[in-house]
Amino acid sequence: MTRPLWAPWRLEYVGGADEQEGCIFCLALERSDEDGLVVHRGERAFVLLNKFPYASGHLLVAPVRHVGEFGDLDADEALEIHQLASQGIGALAQTYSPQGYNLGWNLGRIAGAGVTDHVHLHLVPRWAGDTNFMPVLADVKVLPEHLAESRERLANAWPS
Ligand SMILES: [Zn+2]
Repeated sequence: MTRPLWAPWRLEYVGGADEQEGCIFCLALERSDEDGLVVHRGERAFVLLNKFPYASGHLLVAPVRHVGEFGDLDADEALEIHQLASQGIGALAQTYSPQGYNLGWNLGRIAGAGVTDHVHLHLVPRWAGDTNFMPVLADVKVLPEHLAESRERLANAWPS
């Protein structure tokens, strides 16, 4: 297992984890794109960078509505989440040229969900030589690029 040697956003999280109140997705929606690490806002769903990424450009696609149950997503939300994931792949391809992608839902703590009351789809870019998917989901690695810069690059590359 790899452990982060230098990941300031993670240290920031660890330091502030106890004080943080509320849902990180709903809070991100209220903030500016820069402060919330929001890459793209749709009508019923939006895309943000994972603050605890498994790889550079690790995106989360979530409904705007605070929904905790996967089965409670309505058809329009489910469709837009998939459309945004598809656009996210386009933005990642242009920005980082990954060789593959993992898309996945972690439902419940036992399945690896850090946030259980606002469902979200993980979109993780992959390159040859990176770790297998399960270790990737279980831990984080040192990242060469800061989140703010990733956010800006992906937002600029977002397909219109
Ligand atoms: Zn929420």
